[in-house]
Amino acid sequence: MHQSGRNPKVRNAIFHYASDRIDVDPPLDGPKTKAELDQLAGQTITESGLGGEAALKLFEDVLAPATISTDHPNYLSFIPTAPTELATMFDLVVSASSIYGGSWKEGAGAVFAENQVLEFLARECGLPESSGGLFVQGGTLGNLSAMVTAREKAKAKLGKQPWAIIASSEAHSSIKAVAKVMDCEIVLAQAEDSGSLTHAGAEAAIQEAKSQGLTPFAIVGTAGTTNFGILDDLEAIAKLAQEHQLWFHVDGAYGLAGILVPELKQLYTGIEHADSFIVDPHKWLFAPFDACALVYREPEYARLAHTQHGEYLEVLNHSGEFNPSDYGFNLTRRVRGLPLWFSMAAHGAALYRQAVKANVDLAFKIAEVIEQRPYLRLVRKPQLSVVVFERIGWELADYESWSEKLLADQFAFVVPSSHQGKPNTRFAIVNPLTKFEDLVTILDSME
Ligand SMILES: *Cc1c(COP(=O)(O)O)cnc(C)c1O
Repeated sequence: MHQSGRNPKVRNAIFHYASDRIDVDPPLDGPKTKAELDQLAGQTITESGLGGEAALKLFEDVLAPATISTDHPNYLSFIPTAPTELATMFDLVVSASSIYGGSWKEGAGAVFAENQVLEFLARECGLPESSGGLFVQGGTLGNLSAMVTAREKAKAKLGKQPWAIIASSEAHSSIKAVAKVMDCEIVLAQAEDSGSLTHAGAEAAIQEAKSQGLTPFAIVGTAGTTNFGILDDLEAIAKLAQEHQLWFHVDGAYGLAGILVPELKQLYTGIEHADSFIVDPHKWLFAPFDACALVYREPEYARLAHTQHGEYLEVLNHSGEFNPSDYGFNLTRRVRGLPLWFSMAAHGAALYRQAVKANVDLAFKIAEVIEQRPYLRLVRKPQLSVVVFERIGWELADYESWSEKLLADQFAFVVPSSHQGKPNTRFAIVNPLTKFEDLVTILDSME
């Protein structure tokens, strides 16, 4: 460590690197093997240290190029990320500020700002002013925190039961992971051919759970499936949840952002009845990794479920103040909502609405092109900004070699996916810099 604890030279070098990384279009880059990295990087942890400049150079020359730039406009796989410049820069400020976001006493100003973002999202969804929540690390932890809260509420009423979560066959894998760590069952409701869970499928799954002797305590609706960007019939699910006294959770990790677009709002009808919802700003709200906004209709149930007790913590627990960590499965908490807050505060909500709409328009436009090309087949009509399609006649191996070539050429990152056992590929579009012409070029490369 530098003797005085200050190291302006390395600091400036890091600022310079970060600023350049934001300013210049990033190369896509790509992975290397462990053996290659062993050879290129060597042993980096030493007794005497490499020095900041050498370590930074190693990152810049060797390590960073061995990571894919998920914010590249032609990174179209999984769910990409496309943070605004301001959100990314403010993430540096969050790091530099050492704010403890778990309690009001320590983080009040930052938590206040994060909460205004949560209030904005809650208003968009039609939840009451008394709703509230926190930012956690990601959608998986958001879903877990909500499901734990739901079960605690049910347990308080019914005691110990053979619990079950009801979710769509197209729900995200994290819901199954949540059921596993909670050691409860999950009963999958059959989605329609459209990819949407409707009343019939959800009702059948509730009955099936009951006939197996299980006690359903929550039903999860997805606002934008990860594979297809399709929304469940949230209104029907809300109604069933009410009839069967189930907690209604909306997993909008990717797709909830679409509610910001007035033309899309009606797709989300029913979300106003949700007991909880999540949305990941690192997916489609233009914030850097990693954050999930989690909102509860009645946060008190979450506080009862999640507050940790310990001799050293009681000073916080007795304060009567709003301590975010009491509402999710975490204790120490980075104020990970702050980059989104800063960017939204600076740009205003209207720009977000426009950016999300532009992604959806682009998805619809490229879907039309796909429908017109005889060698392609659109698997489902898009609802948001995910477009899934097949190259007629291709096996998985064909998709794989095509995908590898696109990356080797440093043009695009588009990986194979599958639906009902049949290989396909998909464009997940969340980056306002993604160009229609480039998408067309990718389609051309499949001919
Ligand atoms: C990505 C995603 C998740 C998981 O979120 P992480 O932030 O990756 O943990 C959950 N649900 C849906 C619908 C998602 O798209």
